[in-house]
Amino acid sequence: MSSTESTTTQSFADLGLSDSLLKTLADIGYETPSPIQAECIPVLLQGRDLIGQAQTGTGKTAAFALPLMEQIDVKLTKPQALVLTPTRELAIQVAEALQSYAKNLPGFHVLPIYGGQSYTIQLKQLSRGAHIVVGTPGRVMDHLERKTLNLDNLKTMVLDEADEMLRMGFIDDVEWILERTPAQHQTALFSATMPEQIRRVAQKYLVEPREIKIKSATATVAAIRQVYWQVSGMHKLDALTRILEVEDKFDAAIIFVRTKNSTVELADKLSARGYAAAALNGDLNQQMRERVIEQLKSGALDIVVATDVAARGIDVPRVSHVVNYDIPYDTEAYVHRIGRTGRAGRTGNAILFVAPREVSMLRSIERATRQPIAPLTLPSRADVTNKRVADFKAGVVEVLNAEGLDFFANIVSQIAEEQNVGAEEVAAALAMMAQKGKPLQIPGEDPAPSRPMADSRRPGSFGERDSKPRFEGRSDKPRTESSGDSRPRFEDKPRRASSGAPTGDMVRYRIDVGRDHGVQVKDIVGAIANEAGIESRFIGRIALYDESSTVELPAGMPKEADNALKRTRVRGVPINMRPDEGDARPEGERKFDGERKFKKRV
Ligand code: ADP
Ligand code: MG
Repeated sequence: MSSTESTTTQSFADLGLSDSLLKTLADIGYETPSPIQAECIPVLLQGRDLIGQAQTGTGKTAAFALPLMEQIDVKLTKPQALVLTPTRELAIQVAEALQSYAKNLPGFHVLPIYGGQSYTIQLKQLSRGAHIVVGTPGRVMDHLERKTLNLDNLKTMVLDEADEMLRMGFIDDVEWILERTPAQHQTALFSATMPEQIRRVAQKYLVEPREIKIKSATATVAAIRQVYWQVSGMHKLDALTRILEVEDKFDAAIIFVRTKNSTVELADKLSARGYAAAALNGDLNQQMRERVIEQLKSGALDIVVATDVAARGIDVPRVSHVVNYDIPYDTEAYVHRIGRTGRAGRTGNAILFVAPREVSMLRSIERATRQPIAPLTLPSRADVTNKRVADFKAGVVEVLNAEGLDFFANIVSQIAEEQNVGAEEVAAALAMMAQKGKPLQIPGEDPAPSRPMADSRRPGSFGERDSKPRFEGRSDKPRTESSGDSRPRFEDKPRRASSGAPTGDMVRYRIDVGRDHGVQVKDIVGAIANEAGIESRFIGRIALYDESSTVELPAGMPKEADNALKRTRVRGVPINMRPDEGDARPEGERKFDGERKFKKRV
């Protein structure tokens, strides 16, 4: 066992959280804090300012959300914390997380506010009194200007995914908001990366912040074949069973998930599909745990679904596969996990499931282990059938060589004679009977093969995934693919000033903000993406003029998106978006358009 395997993990109780919150965490199934949580929670509980840097998927939300829960006074129905997020999906996600941590805090109310949602509803909700407001910068700014959001009782301000807010052109808005928050409050800034401009904002608005950065350690993983599957087109459980079925030399597997509850859930589902599977988590006492591991060793179990802590140090040579069903928080956890296979000189296999927003974690695992992880093509239905047929044949051949077949051969002859059919047909009928419990052919259709994964090294590849523009409508469901690291970078897209007619099914609109308002292309993209829920890759050419600009958007925009855009502001200026009547005179001829209608924000 290597020395790192014996490092003690902190518990949530060690971090100074209250009993009621600890109980909630146990209910939710969080066993141990992730590294960023372990480091940030005590600092935030002390009331200090903080800069937290860790990758996507490392649990930054709970790192600030749990300390927030501790400081909320439920009796005071005024916003006591404000969380800024770059997109409305994230605003909703963070609000949902906060609500789930408030399970044992009756009367707690968190309110997400974001563009595209009706003001009337938001105003009603704001006046009802929320304890925490989570919002996108544009909409928060609006409410502050209209004085419908009052920050007099603010204790904590959180900037979540600060680098993403910068990327989307919201940094000025964020500063504008920071300048209008009461002097006495705690500020926490979270970011996956720390660009210069974010550092500058931190220096200006944070007071002696503690800086916490979760680094990825390097490690070597020798005799382990590592592959990843990009989660798409199929449920993870179906993909898992397909992969396990077709994997060569599958003997036993440890499958890693994040929560205790998921260990039980997944083990149950696998059992229902005929696997000898059991859960291994921190709820089991030492004796029960040892029993599970003993069963895995003896072959009574083939699959153990575990959390990181529960599986620490397991040494079972027959474990041929480790599956990272949920991606680990950091590269160290990854190395621990996959070290459960390839034991005792055998070769091991590590399979990693990667959701689009987790691509950056995949890349840093590759860097830390100094090994590329190859993409895995999901076995097709035909692959699975072939494997099942091969296994079936092997089983039949084994019986052919066994003793005592005469009795059965006699029965086959009788059936053939009585039914006037050949022995072959009788054998076919028997084969069909034999596969009843587990059909050789799986029904349904294969999903379309997944395209190359988008990441920052391959800008633009995400945009090729499908060509139909999607409008989000007012769905409350967070859409994972537009949040996190897979989001295309606006700067990567060629967007030239152009007066040419829109191509394809695009419509050109005119908006009342331009260069004179200090507006840049990314500001417009950010505002439209958030307010209308149009993914940025579907936003066409944007041409900036002095006092106005044109934007090409997909035709057939839903009324809601249209209405939202009419009210949208960029840098505080209402954009008054309307179809462009081909009025593309050069800027010089436009000076008779009258006085500038709107003040520039300073
Ligand atoms: P980030 O903000 O760093 O991208 P999130 O806060 O969105 O990451 O967390 C990613 C996932 O991990 C969420 O599904 C969350 O519920 C889960 N998670 C966070 N902390 C824990 C924990 N201590 N134990 C188990 N799961 C956790
Ligand atoms: Mg986050």
